[in-house]
Amino acid sequence: MTIEGKVALITGGAQGIGLGIARRLAADGAAIALVDMKGEKLVAAAGQIEALGRPVTTFVADVSDRDQVYAAIDHAERELGGFDVMVNNAGIAQVNPILDVTPEEVDRIVRINIEGVLWGIQAAAKKFLARGQKGKIINAASIAGHEGFAMLGVYSATKFAVRALTQAAARELAASGINVNAYCPGVVGTDMWVEIDERFATLTGAAKGETYDKYVGGIALGRAETPDDVAALVSYLAGPDSDYMTGQAVLIDGGMVYR
Ligand code: NAD
Repeated sequence: MTIEGKVALITGGAQGIGLGIARRLAADGAAIALVDMKGEKLVAAAGQIEALGRPVTTFVADVSDRDQVYAAIDHAERELGGFDVMVNNAGIAQVNPILDVTPEEVDRIVRINIEGVLWGIQAAAKKFLARGQKGKIINAASIAGHEGFAMLGVYSATKFAVRALTQAAARELAASGINVNAYCPGVVGTDMWVEIDERFATLTGAAKGETYDKYVGGIALGRAETPDDVAALVSYLAGPDSDYMTGQAVLIDGGMVYR
């Protein structure tokens, strides 16, 4: 029970890795604010947290809109009586070779994957400062934040950017007792990978499931990653055991990318 009684907000918390993180932080003892664009899925996700016996609140927001991110944090503080941990998890994939990428695609993923994290860091840090307290900010990067992957060039660029923001924010905010770190998953079997696999199939003629299987086949530990695998690292980054860590983008990928 490392974060017993703390309040944690998770963006993209309606499903996938974000929901896995929410369940784990709730099991660790935190009250949970789930933020996502998908209102209906948020309700179902909140039910899972309630079943764990922890306070939970939901807020529909688009993380690419700065005002909505600030409003989400205000809501969490008001409903749950505090604010201690910000998990900037929401993100989208985008599969297209460099030769074919369009300005519209780039604009969309930059707004969500980079600006969404930026506004999350900014709003959370301002809230911690206003409350005169320490805090933890934890951002979703990726193995693609350490290596550029073919067909995922722009996605990779956004995740490199998340590492840059994590490092700069860590340096700027350390003196205020705010730690900023990132988690870098490998291949997690969520809806995002269903979408990536389907898009590879369209672009390359690969059979459905083939690209996913190929990537999973390259994992040293021999299986796909689960949201729980990611959540175990985020639990550590959210709790007091990581108080002496800041500015890191930690790989948790079963052995795919080695740094
Ligand atoms: P997912 O698609 O299953 O879930 C993402 C969630 O984020 C969804 O509920 C979606 O509604 C929400 N979301 C998307 N855009 C949003 C926006 N603008 N505002 C608010 N909510 C928004 O994806 P996932 O696999 O759970 O991925 C979560 C994070 O982990 C992402 O940042 C992703 O890039 C990263 N990641 C995933 C993998 C993987 O293999 N799945 C690997 C490395 C990193």
